[in-house]
Amino acid sequence: DRILDEDRQNQEEQVEMSLRPEFLSQYIGQKTLKDNLKVFIEAAKIRGEALDHVILHGPPGLGKTTLSNIIANEMGVNIRTTSGPAVERAGDLAAILSSLETGDVLFIDEIHRLPRAVEEILYSAMEDFFLDVVIGKGEEARSIRIDLPPFTLVGATTRFGSLSAPLRDRFGVQLRLEYYDVDSLMTIVNRTAEIFEVSIDPDSTVELAKRSRGTPRIANRLLRRVRDFSIVKEEPSITLETTDHALRVLEVDPSGLDPVDHKIMNTIIHTYGGGPVGLETVAVSIGEEVVTLLDVYEPYLIQQGFLERTQRGRRATAKSYEYFKDDTQPDISR
Ligand code: ADP
Repeated sequence: DRILDEDRQNQEEQVEMSLRPEFLSQYIGQKTLKDNLKVFIEAAKIRGEALDHVILHGPPGLGKTTLSNIIANEMGVNIRTTSGPAVERAGDLAAILSSLETGDVLFIDEIHRLPRAVEEILYSAMEDFFLDVVIGKGEEARSIRIDLPPFTLVGATTRFGSLSAPLRDRFGVQLRLEYYDVDSLMTIVNRTAEIFEVSIDPDSTVELAKRSRGTPRIANRLLRRVRDFSIVKEEPSITLETTDHALRVLEVDPSGLDPVDHKIMNTIIHTYGGGPVGLETVAVSIGEEVVTLLDVYEPYLIQQGFLERTQRGRRATAKSYEYFKDDTQPDISR
């Protein structure tokens, strides 16, 4: 099963790669971010220097990895990609850094998960482009200095607040990705449909855009699933009826909320009297990881006005009482 899961995941990743826009002009939405980035890239090119270090932050699936590749393409340089959990020892990062060429982009996904000892060697690398490496052990140990070419570190994180201050402060460019509006998601759905060579009715496009949690990755994934239903029905074009049916089967509600969102809100409303309640308590009640609630679920529920963060914990809003009133109380004893 695991092997099958991995296969499936690789497949998903390959499809995702094939959908990635390569240049800023093809990157949909995020207008403020794009306008700013364009200026920084142009200025760096005029100065003939590497782009300043960039931190991209925001919920998963909003296009951080895509942007890191776009930055490299726009600067006309190579990109090396790794992730926080993948770099276990300082030596691993030192090896990657010393293989970079002038101006290259080093992309570190989930940078908030870098081990502390690894993070510390980044400070001098980012600030003054050198590494202090200790070789040998005990009395033999000595520190040598390795000069690095100027490079651009692009970090991505779902949790800006978890970055240590010394790391955060070394990013000259800090960009926050926002959830996409329905118009942008419609453009993304239509673009993906074109790449897949599948025809889709305009009202289906609207429906998919509305039910994708403001997230391109989810919009693309739902489109693929809906397309499956449409193929089986032998439709010449994806219809609203099929879209509706497929999304219902996939347990995506009219606002794009899934069963976990419902469990979260019902637990807060019914079990904890609407809150305030700690997110850890909610996580335990519904059997989900706190980090998943923090990174994936909570930001969207807050953005949609269902959930509030207060000093004493999370609280359900008036809007959520109205929205979830027909849900049955969850049986959390099971
Ligand atoms: P993240 O790194 O933030 O988790 P990704 O960069 O992997 O997100 O994006 C997820 C998927 O959504 C990719 O297939 C990508 O092509 C698509 N996508 C993200 N942002 C955009 C955008 N602005 N325009 C078009 N497609 C996008």
